[in-house]
Amino acid sequence: MRRRETVIRTEIDAAVYNEELLPWLPPKIIDCHVHIGLAEHCRPISPERLKANWALEVGVAQSWENLLNNRGTLFPRQEVLSLVFGGVFKETDIEANNDYILAGALKSENNAKALLVTRPEWSQSEIAEFISKGFVGVKPYPDLVPNDTQDISIYDFISKLHLKVVDELHGILMLHLPRAGRIADPYNIKELLEISESFPNIKIVVAHIGRAFCLPTAKEGLPHFVNSPRIHFDTSANLNSDVFQYALETIGPDRLLYGSDLPITLMRGVREHVGDKYINYTDAPYSWNVNRKTPEEEAKYTFFIYEEIRALIRAVEKSGLGAEAIEKIMYSNNAELLGKGGD
Ligand SMILES: [Zn+2]
Repeated sequence: MRRRETVIRTEIDAAVYNEELLPWLPPKIIDCHVHIGLAEHCRPISPERLKANWALEVGVAQSWENLLNNRGTLFPRQEVLSLVFGGVFKETDIEANNDYILAGALKSENNAKALLVTRPEWSQSEIAEFISKGFVGVKPYPDLVPNDTQDISIYDFISKLHLKVVDELHGILMLHLPRAGRIADPYNIKELLEISESFPNIKIVVAHIGRAFCLPTAKEGLPHFVNSPRIHFDTSANLNSDVFQYALETIGPDRLLYGSDLPITLMRGVREHVGDKYINYTDAPYSWNVNRKTPEEEAKYTFFIYEEIRALIRAVEKSGLGAEAIEKIMYSNNAELLGKGGD
């Protein structure tokens, strides 16, 4: 896996930050979705696997030093706290990655909290013992289920026994939904509502707005969660302002949480949404990057994470909300999630 080094900001990045983002950004930001890991925490990934998931090639490596540098480069005028967790793919050495995460999260200078990446086959007591070392919750992941099928249950990668432990500890569950139907899938909807009702002390964060990267998915899925105040949605790696606007108008600004999905969103480019498909455009030399824009258009590219925040600002404007909605999403809601009481 290629190791992503510190990013350098271009003139375009500086203009986007200063002119478009800065007027909206709160002085303190909490980012609830960050991956940390070293290149040696990841075994080589096969060409077939790289082909099946574009994000695998973009990079899973980001050391604590990289994170601190990246935060400083991306948000030079803000103080950023990150909720971090390891790599979540079959190739990850999860035990070593979790150890590295915890060691870094316990250092105050890193300004971070950590989630434990869990293996579905771990026992209840193993989960409890790992969490007690200093994690604030768990990050299970569909790819860690031994069988390769898409049609799995949430309980296949986080068992009810694991959920019981997280519930007792009042922990966070960062949930990446399985299945092709994403947040609109009837099984996902049923199980998510069931988890929220059965485990009332778990703070549920559904990653990437339930993988509703496109509006039709959001429209089919999100209305089912209007009356589930304990279910939160993170914005990570979602660049669709129509989806954000729809989420603001159905779920509301109090249950949306800013997440970046760094380091993947250091990728530079734009995303287009056509029906229920999205297309990533970038200037980077990834094997899947065969569909390129003109050099003039590529010269205007900025970080995906800036594009995400741009989309969020646009959605807030279109919904008739103001900077206080951005402050909630990028700070207060996450502060509450982490039990920081908005300090
Ligand atoms: Zn992620």
